Amino acid sequence: MTAAAPLYEIFALRYAHFADRTQGSNLIFPDDHAAPMPLDFFVWAIRGANEAAGGRTVVLDTGFDAAAAQRRGRVWLRSPMDALRGISIEPAEVRDVVLSHMHWDHAGHWQDFAKARFHLQDAEMTYCTGRCMCHEIMRRPFEVEHVTEAVRAVFAERVKFHAGTAEIAPGVTLHLVGGHSGGLQIMRVPTARGWVVLASDAAHFWHNIRRRSPFSLLHSLERMAEGWLLCEELADGPDHIIPGHDPEVTRRFPKLAGDPDTVRLDLPPTA
Ligand SMILES: [Zn+2]
Ligand SMILES: [Zn+2]
Repeated sequence: MTAAAPLYEIFALRYAHFADRTQGSNLIFPDDHAAPMPLDFFVWAIRGANEAAGGRTVVLDTGFDAAAAQRRGRVWLRSPMDALRGISIEPAEVRDVVLSHMHWDHAGHWQDFAKARFHLQDAEMTYCTGRCMCHEIMRRPFEVEHVTEAVRAVFAERVKFHAGTAEIAPGVTLHLVGGHSGGLQIMRVPTARGWVVLASDAAHFWHNIRRRSPFSLLHSLERMAEGWLLCEELADGPDHIIPGHDPEVTRRFPKLAGDPDTVRLDLPPTA
């Protein structure tokens, strides 16, 4: 990348945990059904690191709240809103919020982002408000309150819809994948170590993409598999693809001083 190219810092903010999971509960084709495979829950923030990035801050995904954590049996570590404040990002001042998809664990806290424009793929909004939600098995990963907030934001002209690829800040692009949900999107970010892809649930774990082993919650296997290829095409290497729920992320990347649940993804992994 040239000196004039925009560069960003990327933070992964871990806010919840789900210990009681195995390969058998996470994968369609587990190698070892009983092998432990816990999930972590994250929101991500990117922050302009040079002049070319124009001082832009973008938040990717907004997480769930304490009540949802209790209802669905997840271990709540902290509010993702407080996690953002911990890196000096006040949610009420954020201008751009990207929803990778509308699943319950990614799409809460709409009211906290009072000034934000919400970036969403047409296909995801269609999916979470359409006929598939008449089926319990397909609406289970959605919260009707989140979907209702999304509709309210549409009526307030605060949703920026995308249909495929879009540049939302200098050098930062969104890419439609689908696969896991009807209109899941991923985000590509230029950093000092190269192009990083925030895959969200296009790959819950590195295991999913590296072993070509699909997560059990699925909309289209074909598009999920194509999404793995797209992540690899857009990223500068296997460690530049950041999975959405892998506890290895906080183990491998440099932690912020005094905050073991926040790591820097624009720096090379240390493990
Ligand atoms: Zn999901
Ligand atoms: Zn998820």
